[in-house]
Amino acid sequence: MKLFSIFGDPVSHSRSPIMHNCVFKNLNYNACYTRTHLLDGSKLKETFFSLGLSGANVTVPHKEAAFNACDEIRGFASKVGVVNTLINENGKLIGYNTDADGFMFAIEEFGDVKEILILGAGGTAKALAARFLQDGIKVSVINRSQGRLSYFQEIGCECFSWDNFKVKKYDLVVNTTSAGLKDEELPAPKEIIDVILDNSSFAADAIYGKLTPFLKLALEKNITFKDGSDMLLGQGVLANELFVNQELKKEDIKKHMQRSFNL
Ligand code: NDP
Repeated sequence: MKLFSIFGDPVSHSRSPIMHNCVFKNLNYNACYTRTHLLDGSKLKETFFSLGLSGANVTVPHKEAAFNACDEIRGFASKVGVVNTLINENGKLIGYNTDADGFMFAIEEFGDVKEILILGAGGTAKALAARFLQDGIKVSVINRSQGRLSYFQEIGCECFSWDNFKVKKYDLVVNTTSAGLKDEELPAPKEIIDVILDNSSFAADAIYGKLTPFLKLALEKNITFKDGSDMLLGQGVLANELFVNQELKKEDIKKHMQRSFNL
């Protein structure tokens, strides 16, 4: 039996085990998916191999450490330096990023989006910003600390920290910070989030399964919003295809993974 896991801190909230196990069980694929609470990202590679894993997902805050742990990076991950999916290929650790394409799937229903503001400048923000720019979307980024903004400046985003923010009109604002994940914080001071939401057509949060303070405020302001569930589904389907080495049909993976959201 193949064994898979998700690494993160925190990781107890993750729905990835139930999503992937639902696919494996219903499609009779001989595999099991568990979760691993990893405090120190530099221990990722040794932990992966000591557990005898065939593959894994990586969540907050280890996606950049995962990139550094890999023997080879493939596809979009090499462009952004952020890895959320690991494959054991003959004892070598191969890294991929499925978050960005998963998110594009999630925002299809918002139609033609031309101007996006990203809240946060971590691994998820990097992947999304690079993916949006690839599609010709204009991207602004606002982050609590200045230090992480240089990557975004270099790839062509308009960048702000909390003290120099200038608002524009946005088709979509996306929260990629972990504010609201295990606390009740907004991703920036309320006066900034107020002005952002007042100038945005749609709002999305990468956090899933809860109404974060950010989404609560969007709801109060009557802005159409969604949480990170569809992003989770999108990245999960793409990761599962890699786990089973394309042995299962994408449509079947999606159908069973989607069903796991009702469990
Ligand atoms: P990182 O740790 O790489 O980045 C976190 C970012 O959040 C940083 O920009 C950090 O700012 C900011 N931040 C953290 N706490 C606060 C706070 N209290 N107020 C304001 N800003 C804060 O995380 P990831 O990019 O890996 O993940 C971010 C979120 O996205 C997580 O909640 C994760 O669960 C979610 N996610 C969901 C997915 C899905 O499928 N739905 C997929 C991927 C991620 P600073 O630089 O100042 O420290």
